[in-house]
Amino acid sequence: MNVPDIMKEKMCFSFEVYPPKEDKPLEPLLDTLEHLYKLNPDFVSCTYGAGGTNAGRNTEICKAIKDSGKSIPVTHFTCIGNHKEKIKEELQRYLELGIDHILALRGDLPKGWEGTRGDFDYANELVEYIKTYFPEFIIAVAGNPEKHFQATSFDADITHLRIKQDVGADFIMTQLCHDVDHYQWWVERIRKAGIYLPIDVGVMPVLLKDPTIRMAVSNGSAVPRDLAEIIGRYGDNAEDFKKAGKEYTVKQIFKFINAGIDGLHIYSLNKWKDVSDIVLDCGIRIVNK
Ligand code: FAD
Repeated sequence: MNVPDIMKEKMCFSFEVYPPKEDKPLEPLLDTLEHLYKLNPDFVSCTYGAGGTNAGRNTEICKAIKDSGKSIPVTHFTCIGNHKEKIKEELQRYLELGIDHILALRGDLPKGWEGTRGDFDYANELVEYIKTYFPEFIIAVAGNPEKHFQATSFDADITHLRIKQDVGADFIMTQLCHDVDHYQWWVERIRKAGIYLPIDVGVMPVLLKDPTIRMAVSNGSAVPRDLAEIIGRYGDNAEDFKKAGKEYTVKQIFKFINAGIDGLHIYSLNKWKDVSDIVLDCGIRIVNK
């Protein structure tokens, strides 16, 4: 079954992992994956370094997920510095390995870059290319409930999302958004704009103070008052911060589920233990701790 079909039947549940650097062993992540599989994720996505950095490790990890037979691999893929011939080769390779789900992204422009320095300027062009030459792929695209930080307006950003749908995207995976009320407002807006694709909501677990602040700020995401209080109150004590952050994340997941979502995608940060605690506390999956 593919991911959009799963979403038609139930709330899809998935994790994101990131591959190790080229000079590091794969085993720790393979072990992490074994722990994550116990939570029965419908799919596991693997990030792709913009510009193809670490692309080899991405393929190895996606292949390992596929070969495990325990979940569907979804590869991330970006346009940055990528030319059609290389893109074609990489897409063919994924299909040869049985990896047929792809999150088609532009990627973040490295500092000082004006454009992608590749054959595609925006994700919609990559989606169209994949749909035309590799129609076997199920294509996910990024959605930004708080607006992409470079978009000139919400309307412009929503129009660009609509274009990705119109050229062949199959579902949306969202950027982190701590503010669930705002998320619901955005869903209403995109539905009014004729975007009907199912939405897989990305949740970033709150585990460490600095990355929590950095990831929100770098994406132009708001830090709601209750999260700001956790940062203020427990920011100097890593253990207390993590405890409060995990409780916050569980509540956050409940709020999203109550809002009615097609899928829940947890950015695992490769931390299976903390993420398993969160998932089990939510009651989404049952497994012996
Ligand atoms: P686009 O859809 O191309 O949008 C980029 C900007 O251009 C937006 O402001 C948009 O409004 C505007 N725009 C879009 N189309 C047009 C157009 N036709 N004309 C004019 N303006 C346009 N990055 C990585 O490098 N590796 C990863 O593995 C990765 N994984 C991610 C996973 C998720 C779930 C998400 C949400 C993001 C991920 N990213 C990753 C980050 C992503 O690459 C960045 O957010 C990037 O800046 C934008 O990518 P995009 O696909 O949304 O781009």
